[in-house]
Amino acid sequence: MRPFNHINANSLDTASELVKSGGAVAIAGGGDLLPALKDNIFPEYPKIVVNLKSIPGLDYITLDGDTLKIGALATLADIARSPLVQANAPILARAAGSASSPSLRETTTIGGNVCQLPRCWYFRKLNNRFDCSRKGGGQCFAIMGDNRYHSVFGGAGFNTDAGEKRTCIAVNQSELAPVLNVLTAKFVTTGRVIGNLDFFGVGVLTTTVLNRGELLKEIQIPLTDFAKNSRYKRFAFRKSIDFPVINLAIAVNSDRSQYHICLGGVAPTPYIALKAEELLNGKTITPELAEAAGIAAAEGAKPFEANAYKVQLIKTLVKRELLTMT
Ligand SMILES: Cc1cc2nc3c(=O)[nH]c(=O)nc-3n(C[C@H](O)[C@H](O)[C@H](O)COP(=O)(O)OP(=O)(O)OC[C@H]3O[C@@H](n4cnc5c(N)ncnc54)[C@H](O)[C@@H]3O)c2cc1C
Ligand code: SF4
Repeated sequence: MRPFNHINANSLDTASELVKSGGAVAIAGGGDLLPALKDNIFPEYPKIVVNLKSIPGLDYITLDGDTLKIGALATLADIARSPLVQANAPILARAAGSASSPSLRETTTIGGNVCQLPRCWYFRKLNNRFDCSRKGGGQCFAIMGDNRYHSVFGGAGFNTDAGEKRTCIAVNQSELAPVLNVLTAKFVTTGRVIGNLDFFGVGVLTTTVLNRGELLKEIQIPLTDFAKNSRYKRFAFRKSIDFPVINLAIAVNSDRSQYHICLGGVAPTPYIALKAEELLNGKTITPELAEAAGIAAAEGAKPFEANAYKVQLIKTLVKRELLTMT
């Protein structure tokens, strides 16, 4: 760890101004950021770390009419054990309770979870060994290198600050992202409200469309029947303290006219399985339909040799979870 100034913010606006001014980074639970600082992965080491946890009143979980509102500083543990979340959006409680480890869940937050940086090992390599595209550098080392955990649905194109075009094949690995997508969550920031389909993105040192200094304030979940009739499943190689290789959220409305299916760990942003949704809409699940939907969810995948196993995982996970909804 190298030296930096640590500032306890007393409001989100102050924190936002500090981060906007450059050379500063926001920290919430630190579950993602602290290892990154310790391993010195950033092209420019932050001079200031702005602590969001010192901001009062941002860790709430409340019901406002038919909307569940969760402050950006609510911890994963609080979300997992909240009776409000368990009753109204059980898959969110389940996903929050599956992430990382019990001790990490006590301190890490929903805001940090959806804003976490890529897990790609070139990106995370000690002492910024690989100055890859996602850090503003010239190339993606994973395309020709070890890509066993990377995207099976192609890379995401983005521009560097200098306007140069780059591609990245790292996946979004947020535990909560697929769930928030199928629940059609809204993301309230210091400047605007962003819909679930627009929030996640790919850029230099970012996995969201948030501008520099723009901070997440609240996540809003409309309590439709999708929120109650839903499933969450993760596949990880180890049983505990391991990121999901793939995670899956499915939600359906009560007359089964519309299915929402979203996968994490398969594409640079949470992947909406549109073809599977179209196949299922208006239908009741049968074993044949579940199998066809699994195949449809993986349609269009173009894996590398090392991550082709993910295609079979997609088919199997989608089929199995749908069969629990018959
Ligand atoms: C051993 C280990 C296992 C883990 N396992 C998992 C896992 O299974 N699933 C999983 O999803 N994650 C996992 N993580 C990653 C991480 O712990 C979680 O994603 C956690 O939820 C991050 O939240 P945080 O509050 O600690 O974020 P921080 O580390 O504080 O911040 C993460 C990023 O988000 C930004 N940020 C934080 N809050 C805001 C905000 N309000 N507005 C805008 N930007 C913000 C920060 O600037 C930073 O870039 C693991 C981490 C470790 C160390
Ligand atoms: S996949 Fe993305 S994060 Fe990994 S080396 Fe390539 S550009 Fe960097």
